[in-house]
Amino acid sequence: MSDLTPWHSFRIRKFKSDSKVDIGAYGGHPRGIRAHQWPRCAVCGAPMCHMAQIDSGPWLNLGAYQRMTVFICHATGGRCEDWDPWKGANKVLLSKMRDENLYDGPPTVRVYRRQMLTIDTPLDERAVMAQVRTNGVPVKDALEQLRHDKLGGGAVWLHGDDTPASPTGQGPMRLVLQMTTDVVKFDITTGGMGYVFLDPYDASENACRLLWQGG
Ligand SMILES: [Zn+2]
Repeated sequence: MSDLTPWHSFRIRKFKSDSKVDIGAYGGHPRGIRAHQWPRCAVCGAPMCHMAQIDSGPWLNLGAYQRMTVFICHATGGRCEDWDPWKGANKVLLSKMRDENLYDGPPTVRVYRRQMLTIDTPLDERAVMAQVRTNGVPVKDALEQLRHDKLGGGAVWLHGDDTPASPTGQGPMRLVLQMTTDVVKFDITTGGMGYVFLDPYDASENACRLLWQGG
């Protein structure tokens, strides 16, 4: 996995018995999250639902952090504006250590079934997009090849570029995770897509932002 660039991405797949790499899971009960850490929605106050927990590795650069855990509010059917990266109706927790223990969490309105995850070998997205220039492939068709659950690379937007900017004013955030409703039917409308960005100018455990666009 040498010579990786920011344009390399790793497609996420369901973990199978012959999968070699275990990167984490969608759904289920998150590991290592103590009750007092469990995020509550800043809008309605309800405990959030767990979506994903992915470990760092050659497939995911989280800086000083070892793991990210993604939560979203499903308590009000979208009235909390859980697609917004800034409203506090979703949350990405970064952890410096991997704690595999299961701690009690609050009851939540939804628990997705746990799906362990693995990845494909890295894909150079520049090569995919180069087909547009050299082979006359329509941009839409090229992007369709990247419209799947993945770590890194560029975001495939459904409704235009919504890349969050760092509040420090130093530049855009970096895509770390793109989620669809294909692997797990996340409640972000069928065909919707979720995006987790990391603020490279923020070293804190709150450096990640989640947003999603409806299908
Ligand atoms: Zn809420």
